[in-house]
Amino acid sequence: MTATYTFQAEIRQLLHTLIHSLYQDREIFLRELISNGSDALNRIQFETLTQRDIRDADAELVIRITADSEANTLTISDTGVGMTREEVIDHLGTISKSGVRAFLEQAKGANGNVATDIIGQFGVGFYSIFMVADKVEVHTLSYLPDAEPVLWTSTGEETYEIDAGTRTTRGTDVILYLKEDAHEFLETYRLQQIIKTHSNYVAFPIFVGDGEEPVNQQKAIWRRPASDVSDEEYNAFYKSLTLDFKDPLLRIHTTSDAPTQYYALLYLPTSREPSMFSPRKEAGLQLYARKILIQDYCTDLLPDYLSFVQGAVDSEDLPLNVSRETVQANKIMHALKKAITGKVLRQLKDTSKNEPEVYIQFWEEFGPFIKQGMITDPENKERLLPLLRFHSTTHPDALVTLDEYVERMQEVKGQEAIYYVLGDTQSTAARSPHLEPFRARGIEVLYFTETVDSFLINSLFEYNDHPLKNVDDADLDLSEVGELQDNSQDDSPTLEEDALENVRGRFEQALGERVKAVRISKVLTGTTSPARLVSPEGSIDRHTQRVYRMLDREYEVPQKILELNPHHPIIFNLGQHLADGGELVDTAIEQVYENALLLDGLHPNPADMVERIQRLMELALGR
Ligand code: ADP
Ligand code: MG
Repeated sequence: MTATYTFQAEIRQLLHTLIHSLYQDREIFLRELISNGSDALNRIQFETLTQRDIRDADAELVIRITADSEANTLTISDTGVGMTREEVIDHLGTISKSGVRAFLEQAKGANGNVATDIIGQFGVGFYSIFMVADKVEVHTLSYLPDAEPVLWTSTGEETYEIDAGTRTTRGTDVILYLKEDAHEFLETYRLQQIIKTHSNYVAFPIFVGDGEEPVNQQKAIWRRPASDVSDEEYNAFYKSLTLDFKDPLLRIHTTSDAPTQYYALLYLPTSREPSMFSPRKEAGLQLYARKILIQDYCTDLLPDYLSFVQGAVDSEDLPLNVSRETVQANKIMHALKKAITGKVLRQLKDTSKNEPEVYIQFWEEFGPFIKQGMITDPENKERLLPLLRFHSTTHPDALVTLDEYVERMQEVKGQEAIYYVLGDTQSTAARSPHLEPFRARGIEVLYFTETVDSFLINSLFEYNDHPLKNVDDADLDLSEVGELQDNSQDDSPTLEEDALENVRGRFEQALGERVKAVRISKVLTGTTSPARLVSPEGSIDRHTQRVYRMLDREYEVPQKILELNPHHPIIFNLGQHLADGGELVDTAIEQVYENALLLDGLHPNPADMVERIQRLMELALGR
């Protein structure tokens, strides 16, 4: 008896999108079906290790693809786990993948195309068949000894039907009734070509028609000696794994026998964004134990900050009965993680030396991840330090290593510390008033302008015994460091001590609680910056407040010390007008303070300043 079921609403939407679009990519339906067949074969291999009672325990593990050009059907068969009636309903009628539900909940309410978003995040999967077929039958028989065969049928519209099936051996046949315009997929050479492109390294043999030679290569590429594998093969494997259409930036093919045996083939992509149709939507490496896939997305082989690495790890030392759940607790896993992390970091270091252009490309895409590693992986700090790169005031377009900085600072008389400036972007940081005394003395300063840099500081407080110092340090003393360049000597008029004290007092009065104190600067000398904000000793939240602002969190402007530049014309003129300036004086004071906030990347809302700037213009123009 036939039972009719309605697809879950989200699947109906997905089907609608698939039927009406994506024509140029539709050959991927075959990759999806083969990958499901391969998953099913993997699972039976796995169940065989742990269970006794299995239907057709001796069946050969294969995928076979048969075309019938009279009936215009294409059949993809596997001898995998098969499905029970409940499983068919569960897996081919609803999307049950972890994460999808939560994703759909979130996407409710939001505008946009839910279906394309699902494809983007989770892949097309089984339903891609409806790009090429207007009717599909799935005949399946589960490996469980008491299961009955099942037949699932659908035309990809609202509903599907379930009947008693006829399959007599374990596994699944998917029969596609091809659309008029999809008859190309009946041709053997076309099928072979698609398999070679997308499924060459599937571990089980794939036969087309009654061919006796498998079409795919099968042999795990990572188990072959590196000297045997060509660049083309490496890149083709990467592409079939990730569906990235670009070649990888770097690859690591390595094997080791002690202390833990493993083969690893790892790739670093050129971009951190996977392509829309990439089958790999989650982070993690494929983990094999003695050639059997144990986990498709194993995140226990690399630390989080290296989650952009793609590839496979295969170990002879992992016990075969290791379950997907206990992988994590396994001692060998721990050793593997350590070894593989080390390999990746070593490769990066070698590349930075031998192929600096490639390394720069890597850094520009993945630099923040390396900084994240500095923060979260103290064990590998020594390996990560040489990987860091920064722009600097004297080398704004280059990427400077800490070693290069230290080497150059040897030329500066008395310089002990490595100086950095924080800012939202390099161009705002370049205008920071804090840099003035450094420029005047020819001292190089590193730009810390990425969000993660505010955290990096807590892990990078010294390098080879040189402390790292923020240029806004309240106790900054450069009197013994470097030499003042002639043109920065200052002969502009300065205020008498009394007058200066009055200006200082007026600032303090006007700004009140917003600043910790107002003082006269010893380091600001030129006439570029009227003031700067320095961090009081021991203010621990000076970086976190910046991060809150960047993250749009509730943010408080930190209380800082305002330093005035006694040589600057604004300060000088304020002194002259204190008595008669009235509104102009207080408005100017506010603006000096807020400009300093802005240049430090601390202003909560720069647009608020527009009104005051207009008022200042009116006053200046004498209205
Ligand atoms: P995914 O493979 O990512 O889980 P799919 O849409 O490709 O998503 O497949 C949905 C589910 O249907 C699979 O997870 C699996 O449980 C089941 N399935 C599909 N094809 C087969 C098959 N050939 N043998 C056994 N189960 C299958
Ligand atoms: Mg699938």
